[in-house]
Amino acid sequence: MILPTKRHSLSHIMAQAVKQNFPNCKIATGPDTDNWFYYDFDFGEVEFSDKDLKKVEKSMKKIVSQGQDFKSFEVDFETARKILDKMWEWFKNELVDKIESWDFKNKEKLSDKISFYYNISKWKSSEYYEGMQNFIAENNFAEFSELDWDQIKNLKFIDMCTGPHVESTKELDTNSFKLARVAGAYWLWNAENKQLTRIYAYAYDNKEELDKYLKFLEEAKKRDHRILWAKLKLFTISDLIGPGLPLMQPAGMVIRQELENYLWKLHSKVGYERVWTPHLAKESLYETSGHAGHYLDDMFKVFGGTSKETFFLKPMNCPHHMQLFADNQFSYRDMPVRYFEPATVYRDEKSGQLSGLTRVRAITQDDGHLFCRIGQIKDEVKVITDIIKEFYTTMWMTKDYWVSLSVRWEDKTKYLWTDENWEKAEKALEDASKENNLPYKRIEWEAAFYGPKLDFMFKDAIGREWQLATIQCDFNLPERFDLSFTNENNEQERPVVIHRAISGSLERWMWVLIEHFAWVFPLWLAPRQVIVVPVMPKFDKYAEKVMQDLKDDWIRTKWDFSTDWLNKKIRMAEKMHNNYILVIWEEEENNNSVAVRNYKTKEQSSEKLEDFKNRIVKEINEKSL
Ligand SMILES: [Zn+2]
Ligand SMILES: [Zn+2]
Repeated sequence: MILPTKRHSLSHIMAQAVKQNFPNCKIATGPDTDNWFYYDFDFGEVEFSDKDLKKVEKSMKKIVSQGQDFKSFEVDFETARKILDKMWEWFKNELVDKIESWDFKNKEKLSDKISFYYNISKWKSSEYYEGMQNFIAENNFAEFSELDWDQIKNLKFIDMCTGPHVESTKELDTNSFKLARVAGAYWLWNAENKQLTRIYAYAYDNKEELDKYLKFLEEAKKRDHRILWAKLKLFTISDLIGPGLPLMQPAGMVIRQELENYLWKLHSKVGYERVWTPHLAKESLYETSGHAGHYLDDMFKVFGGTSKETFFLKPMNCPHHMQLFADNQFSYRDMPVRYFEPATVYRDEKSGQLSGLTRVRAITQDDGHLFCRIGQIKDEVKVITDIIKEFYTTMWMTKDYWVSLSVRWEDKTKYLWTDENWEKAEKALEDASKENNLPYKRIEWEAAFYGPKLDFMFKDAIGREWQLATIQCDFNLPERFDLSFTNENNEQERPVVIHRAISGSLERWMWVLIEHFAWVFPLWLAPRQVIVVPVMPKFDKYAEKVMQDLKDDWIRTKWDFSTDWLNKKIRMAEKMHNNYILVIWEEEENNNSVAVRNYKTKEQSSEKLEDFKNRIVKEINEKSL
């Protein structure tokens, strides 16, 4: 049986188990999701706490091991209501009304029957269900539902549901699920309705799969960038400034600056040029670019003080870059033209969704646009692909990645530009993918109306997939901004624009990196590379000299000259994730050496200061892990 069906069946078993322990609780609904299943309950005045989870889980295991059968029957609406009334399940009764009412019916013609399913097993019934059994017997349910007395005798649970379910709990593994947590949830997702108690649980095919998932969760939780950012002082979210607007603290800025420098280095050697564009523009820019319509709702408006003009904070850099190109009279000899600008753009994300760096309103893209001839797309894509490969190899993410090549759908009428150019562009992207040995998949209908694209999906250290780099061909913006260059025949030719981003956004990328490296950054990215710890004030002078010596080689070094005990100093240094802790005693001072503790590997060594310096300069330059 497939996993969603198992999860779904387990949600009913959870409901049965809860009913055994809390006979007066009312059941609502309980679907399965990607990794979970849940069920919503109304416990009335009774409090359901985390420790009740254990009890319910135990009852569920018992139910599963009993080998209960899942059976179903259908009745008309009236009978359905009678059954639910008798069971005091008023949430379910409301669902019957919903199903019968027009808003459900209008969408799709639903059947005029209501499906129930029930569990039976020969094991002794609980008291609660004896009443249920008598009711069913008295009302002659057997007539509608093919129930016979034998089955009624063994009835364990009834729920309203169309399934599908497993045939028997024998198909389930008693150790394949785990109750996770309790949360509040509104009946029918409406905040005006009653708040119910939702019990979440994980389920997999077997214990091994479940354990694998639990381990992954544990690892992901440990790495969660929202846990340590305050302690490590990487960035700050200020209520006064507003949600979704993280401020970079000096330590966070180090990481960000190193990333930006590295990205620029990779681009500058292959012909990109730095540009800068302002953060605002008039509405007319977005009318020309075509973003004005629905996009304006997500844009921040700025009202001029003296000019009384209205501006918009830019939600992307492309229209600005089009203006840079437009102000030149390029010839075919100048093509391709490549602009690079890590720039902050602003989008009004709903504040409910903003937390840490997961969703922000100020997004810094490592943006760039290149303008080229249709015949140059392939070579340019290769150049960008090389950058992407180098960048992600440095990050240790290229072991298992894939690339999505988004192309047109069969219906070719809704796309811009000519078929001929589309075919050329799609072929250029595909050829470049082949020549660069990219593990790509062609995905039809994924392409935007303005051109085909490549999206790169990388996995982090615990196997989570992230869509990061992108290369997108665009026939639309050059058309809208009427861009052209002079070709060999002295005619005006329209260029193609390629939007490209390597990390996507620096904020999101920092979040990915923090969790990927689990807070211990490779030395070249580490905000705190070295801390010098003199054991006693009398070694302060040498400690200061060591610090200055390292700083002279641009190694980020601090020293702890407090009068705390050595152990406390080391603990503090480790707490702030300093990559190298240098302890200074008399011996070090006399030998011009340092006692080195490597935070990550926990190794300790004694080295000449000069040797240590050369070693870590090499580690930084090689960007080793
Ligand atoms: Zn069901
Ligand atoms: Zn763009």
